[in-house]
Amino acid sequence: MAESTGQSGRVIVIGGGPAGATAATLLAQHGCEVVLFEREHFPRFHIGESLIPETYWVLKRLNMLDKMRASPNVKKYSVQFVGQSGRLSEPFYFVEHKPHESSQTWQVVRAEFDLLMLDNAREHGVRVHEGVRVLEVLFDGSRAIGVRLQDESGVERDEFADVIVDASGQSSMIMSRLQLREWDPVLKKAALWTYFEGAYRDTGRDEGATIVLQTQGKAGWFWYIPQHNNVVSVGVVAAYDYLFKGDRATKDHAQIYAEELDRCPAVRQRVAVGRQAAPFYAAKEYSYRSKQAAGDGWVLVGDAFGFLDPLYSSGVLLALKSGQMAADAVAEGLKIGDLSAAQLGRWEAEFKRGMDRMRRLVCEFYDGFSFGRFVRRYPQYKGHLTDLLIGDLFKDSLDEVFPLIDSLKNEAVSSSPPVAPHV
Ligand SMILES: Cc1cc2nc3c(=O)[nH]c(=O)nc-3n(C[C@H](O)[C@H](O)[C@H](O)COP(=O)(O)OP(=O)(O)OC[C@H]3O[C@@H](n4cnc5c(N)ncnc54)[C@H](O)[C@@H]3O)c2cc1C
Repeated sequence: MAESTGQSGRVIVIGGGPAGATAATLLAQHGCEVVLFEREHFPRFHIGESLIPETYWVLKRLNMLDKMRASPNVKKYSVQFVGQSGRLSEPFYFVEHKPHESSQTWQVVRAEFDLLMLDNAREHGVRVHEGVRVLEVLFDGSRAIGVRLQDESGVERDEFADVIVDASGQSSMIMSRLQLREWDPVLKKAALWTYFEGAYRDTGRDEGATIVLQTQGKAGWFWYIPQHNNVVSVGVVAAYDYLFKGDRATKDHAQIYAEELDRCPAVRQRVAVGRQAAPFYAAKEYSYRSKQAAGDGWVLVGDAFGFLDPLYSSGVLLALKSGQMAADAVAEGLKIGDLSAAQLGRWEAEFKRGMDRMRRLVCEFYDGFSFGRFVRRYPQYKGHLTDLLIGDLFKDSLDEVFPLIDSLKNEAVSSSPPVAPHV
């Protein structure tokens, strides 16, 4: 068991995205001395703009709710799916399932949201250093003891702490160093996106809905995320090999995007009334997870622990939730003088079960799952699906829904040629 050195403990957080800001703020609330190093200067661009309702509870603990209410962010009340034929599902209005203010969430501009979160961490006493890169995590045997830093003038120095929280996003510093990354065998996607001004927007409570639209042939899907300032974020996600390699004659992002728009008339029509207001962005977004969430003196949160396909906009929720669970485990560990892997990662099993439920729903979508058909067949289970969509993932009762999804597949199999099962 590793001993804590400080009275309430000193913690270093690597990265000031949503996961790092959450862990840092909550640890400061617990009375720890927290230092956060962020290599960029905020505001900085980031993708991941649609929140889901269960972020509410973490935002509440962070004292962020009033700031969110006062922000210009578009209010999001629902999610809607459009099949390859262009047919719209009924919207999933979160409040119909959970009549609580948490059922309204937000579409954010991440540069602004992340800055709000980092400033909030500062207000809670976190010492935030921007423009400082963590070069490596320092270990004494298997125990993390500090970090090597480099400032913008190239000067290096070491800092030490009782616990290192790695929130470095997809850089995944500790996961990479200890070779803990496990790639998802199925979810090997890529994304290509841009922003439109003046594109079509629904009105009233549908204005801020996320719309997920399948392309013809179901090779991919578009996200349609209305943001403030009359901007809409519009991106296509598909298998990496399909989007950027394979039979495609072009490597030009504008051309690839145009080809995918042609496969999705429902999006093409929506953006046709606006004008493109940003360049194209591309990301390889293979899903992955670390073999372990913690070791002696270190813990991973957010994308530094795992990344899941963005279909249901779960990334920020998982960043906030893991940040919260890890912060509570670290604070308790500091209090009782136990900074072992078992203590710092005591939340891992529960968190993975929740992440697995979201992953399963993602895989079902790629396997042809139809929300509309499921709800027509099992209306009494619409609430289970809505729980998954809002991110209320950490309840064993939700597992009841998966055999029913399988039963629909069996019905389809008995009336049509076989479909390859997903892993
Ligand atoms: C195409 C796409 C679409 C997505 N859409 C959504 C969505 O709609 N909704 C949603 O919730 N999620 C979405 N996500 C996921 C979301 O972007 C991430 O899950 C989320 O940003 C994770 O937050 P984080 O704090 O773990 O990491 P990040 O937000 O990446 O923050 C990590 C921070 O660490 C810093 N850092 C990295 N290395 C170092 C270092 N060595 N030293 C110091 N600082 C360092 C980085 O500069 C960064 O600021 C999407 C992802 C992709 C790829």
